Amino acid sequence: MKPAPFEYHRPASLVETFDLLARYGDDGRILAGGQSLVPALNMRLATPRAVIDINRLPGLDAIRVAPEGLVIGALARHEAVEHSPLVREHAPLLALAMPHVGHEAIRTRGTVGGSLALADPAAELPACAVALDATIRFEGRRGGREIAAGDFFRGIYTTALEPGELVTALVIPPGAGWRSGFQELARRHGDFALAGLAARVRLDRDVVAEARLVFLGVGAAPVRARGAERVLTGRRVDTDALAAAHRALAGELDPPGDVHGSPALRRHLAGILLTRVVTALVEARS
Ligand SMILES: Cc1cc2nc3c(=O)[nH]c(=O)nc-3n(C[C@H](O)[C@H](O)[C@H](O)COP(=O)(O)OP(=O)(O)OC[C@H]3O[C@@H](n4cnc5c(N)ncnc54)[C@H](O)[C@@H]3O)c2cc1C
Repeated sequence: MKPAPFEYHRPASLVETFDLLARYGDDGRILAGGQSLVPALNMRLATPRAVIDINRLPGLDAIRVAPEGLVIGALARHEAVEHSPLVREHAPLLALAMPHVGHEAIRTRGTVGGSLALADPAAELPACAVALDATIRFEGRRGGREIAAGDFFRGIYTTALEPGELVTALVIPPGAGWRSGFQELARRHGDFALAGLAARVRLDRDVVAEARLVFLGVGAAPVRARGAERVLTGRRVDTDALAAAHRALAGELDPPGDVHGSPALRRHLAGILLTRVVTALVEARS
């Protein structure tokens, strides 16, 4: 199929972008990497009156270190994040997760802002943003706002973004002393995950001082496993601790079922990921 006819705009500034978003309201759609929007247009699942291409907005693709942390612009491509030395140094979790996003061709076009704004429950970046305690910056005609990633994702394809607002950056606070791990299970490499885990732990000798465990693909939005985090905190990761974390996790996950996998399968996979990722994180230290 071909897309329904639409007007095409390519603004050169944020002000122009906000004017266009105000002019078209619900009938205008932002185009970033196009890896989700273009298929939706082609299948006529989306039929906006206007497509507003933000790819020429200056400076939005930068990755830089600022006093508040690592700032990744909304137009940074997944591939740029994957290979950035700054990301490897300041947010290694993202460097681990990015190779799991689709295939290389998709990563050369897909953007950080697009992935955050789309809020696919099986996407890697939203779960990493929550695990990293990151902040999402967005702007609209009335100025800029920022919100913790943990509060940004509200449900399936639903975020705190309001009409007329544009995601401008992901801000990751300094994370010295944290170890990062990412794994996911998918039917084929490049497919959306059936379940994934973005994890960070801070160790004090062999004891877990702090843990952030955020699952993807097992809920309407990234799922922070606070119960399992609590169980692991203050303990050495041994068989007993892992068994207790599994019990806590079983009580806090309520995964959906679909053609790709049942709730029971997703719960099972989440447990496997918990063991694999946490064990690898602890063992990597010695
Ligand atoms: C075959 C295939 C496999 C894929 N596999 C994965 C995968 O495993 N994991 C994964 O995470 N993704 C996957 N994707 C999606 C891909 O990562 C996209 O890059 C991502 O979903 C959207 O980013 P985009 O820049 O392409 O956004 P677009 O497609 O351009 O836009 C997506 C939506 O976000 C809105 N939007 C875009 N940018 C902004 C912004 N700055 N502010 C506000 N709204 C904005 C658009 O209006 C649109 O509604 C896959 C895609 C394909 C085609």
